[in-house]
Amino acid sequence: RIISGDSEGQAEESLEKSLRPQYLSEYIGQSDLKKELSVYIKAAKQREESLDHVLLYGPPGLGKTTLAMVIANEMEVGIKTTSGPAIEKPGDLVALLNELQPGDILFIDEIHRLPKMVEEMLYSAMEDFYVDIVVGQGPTAHPVHFPLPPFTLIGATTRAGLLSAPFRDRFGIVEHMKYYDTDDLQDIVIRSADIFNTKIYDQGAHEIARRSRGTPRIANRLLKRVRDFAQVSEKDNIDVEIVDKALKMLGVDDRGLDATDIKLLKTMIEYYNGGPVGLATLAANVGEETDTIEEMYEPYLLQIGFIKRTARGRVVTADGYEHLHYPINDLK
Ligand code: ADP
Repeated sequence: RIISGDSEGQAEESLEKSLRPQYLSEYIGQSDLKKELSVYIKAAKQREESLDHVLLYGPPGLGKTTLAMVIANEMEVGIKTTSGPAIEKPGDLVALLNELQPGDILFIDEIHRLPKMVEEMLYSAMEDFYVDIVVGQGPTAHPVHFPLPPFTLIGATTRAGLLSAPFRDRFGIVEHMKYYDTDDLQDIVIRSADIFNTKIYDQGAHEIARRSRGTPRIANRLLKRVRDFAQVSEKDNIDVEIVDKALKMLGVDDRGLDATDIKLLKTMIEYYNGGPVGLATLAANVGEETDTIEEMYEPYLLQIGFIKRTARGRVVTADGYEHLHYPINDLK
């Protein structure tokens, strides 16, 4: 599973950590976002204030967590990381906030999955740096006003649309992470190969980049697999040929689509005449969760124009038909 990477082991995780850029200057691509952020960071540091709250949204693997850590390094502050589903009740949030030093960052991944009560408690924490908590139970229960040090909340989400308006409005800096272009991904692959002490030709890196669905996490993952493949083939330098062989074996096609993408498109074409098909129907047909389809597969297929969203569901485009070699005149 190249895209969702469910089977990632601990060794791979620590390898992935070693690839994380530490500073904005090492963070490849997303140039508009970097320019903006460096201004906000500089200004906040000059004023000796905490950075405004930041919301990062976009598909998985584009570098949201990495960017949160980069911001902490650039601001020279500490960072605590957690995720929406991990904060089950207001008390969990208070415990986290209580550990923050002035100016620190609290990073909440999957922030759209925070329980409503926790979200509402964050409103006053974000705006005026306090929370009101109820201490004790029954007749002895009483509210306590709990002041907090100034801090920066960085939230990451694949689904900005799921955040309530009052919550979204409390983030002063809202940034949309975009898919990376091939040149940026090529730079990422070359940088990662360097960290791995692996030799790779520019064309080899380009080929991996081109087939990585605009996503750094996938580029790094493919590089790791190609590197294994090169090693057992006793190739010292990764070239296009070895990349192509390895990716074929992994079931990654010429445009970076994997077996699930292909199954999605084929299901739409063969069973539903190319659509429109509803998301739930599609998910059931390919045996994936609707969330997985919506967050991981669909955005890239939309981005490269193989499918379109219509009011009545998803449809396959002419380019989608062509890619899978179905006759275009099948298209309604
Ligand atoms: P997200 O939080 O958006 O799912 P991550 O921050 O975990 O994504 O990024 C996935 C991996 O991709 C990281 O381990 C990092 O090595 C790499 N990566 C992401 N963005 C960049 C970038 N701009 N430059 C270099 N490497 C990156």
